[in-house]
Amino acid sequence: MKVRASIGTLAVLGLVNIRMDAKPTTAYLLQYYEKGCLARCSFCPQSITNNWNKNYLSRIKWPVVELDEITPRLAEKKYLFRRACIQGVIKPWFHRELVEIARKLYETGLPVSIASNIVPRNVLIEYYKYSDSFGIGLDAASPRIHRETMRPATWESYWRFIEEAVKVYGKGNVYVHVIVGLGETPRELVETITRIYKMGARIALFAFTPVKKTKMATHKPPIMKYYRFAQIYSYLLDQGYSPKEILTWTSNEPRIKKGPWINKDLLQALKTSGCPHCNRPYYNEPPGKILYNYPDENHVRGHEEILWRQIQEIIA
Ligand code: SF4
Repeated sequence: MKVRASIGTLAVLGLVNIRMDAKPTTAYLLQYYEKGCLARCSFCPQSITNNWNKNYLSRIKWPVVELDEITPRLAEKKYLFRRACIQGVIKPWFHRELVEIARKLYETGLPVSIASNIVPRNVLIEYYKYSDSFGIGLDAASPRIHRETMRPATWESYWRFIEEAVKVYGKGNVYVHVIVGLGETPRELVETITRIYKMGARIALFAFTPVKKTKMATHKPPIMKYYRFAQIYSYLLDQGYSPKEILTWTSNEPRIKKGPWINKDLLQALKTSGCPHCNRPYYNEPPGKILYNYPDENHVRGHEEILWRQIQEIIA
């Protein structure tokens, strides 16, 4: 069975030779389909309706490999990773293949995450046999953006799926992917992040990254101040604070209130969010500049002063 593996994952396994400024701490696999993905999402290079090379997702290259060549190496070198992740696409019988891939990853001894499109409860139960964390690509932060970006199912069916996944995986083990900067308003973003936490799920934040030959190739990535707000707000909800305690608005711009939560620990919010040990190095931007998502502590420390100044800008 063929799958795609992120170029960083292959480099850690010694299968390709590239220079890496930060290594992935999760082994990232992507389901393979020669047509990419049957969904029509306007921002995604995997979509059958976008003409960009299917070797890419966001700005990362994902070469095609045989699963049976990868899993023995993963088992042998599992000390190099903390988790393995398989992300699904939409293709005929995608869920059956995802179960099979997850089972083989599970047998390597690494903890496994699955990210899948909407499936019935019995399939979720199958997934749960081989994984402890579950990802859902809600992606759009409002029903309007959901429609405009041509997501594959209705907005409300995604929310019912999140609810069902939390029942199967348990509170705190479902990670809803949200792409910041697809065109949502700050209020829409706040509502969606708040709703995710209220349901007992958590968030994996992505910054919109324009990819060549997709329908959104000329759409701009989010401004950093807005992205920092999304990170800090999500992080504080994750820490158990309530929106009432921490959120305020200044002329329609969301801000974090002053309080004991404003301390240097907030820098942790700028690290990649998602399943445990998911660091997705340079998924949204090239190395060497101020990053949307920091892959590790060293990189945060390297930019500490400027990051702290950016945090100050979103405090009321
Ligand atoms: S469902 Fe996911 S993989 Fe498929 S086109 Fe949409 S964003 Fe891309």
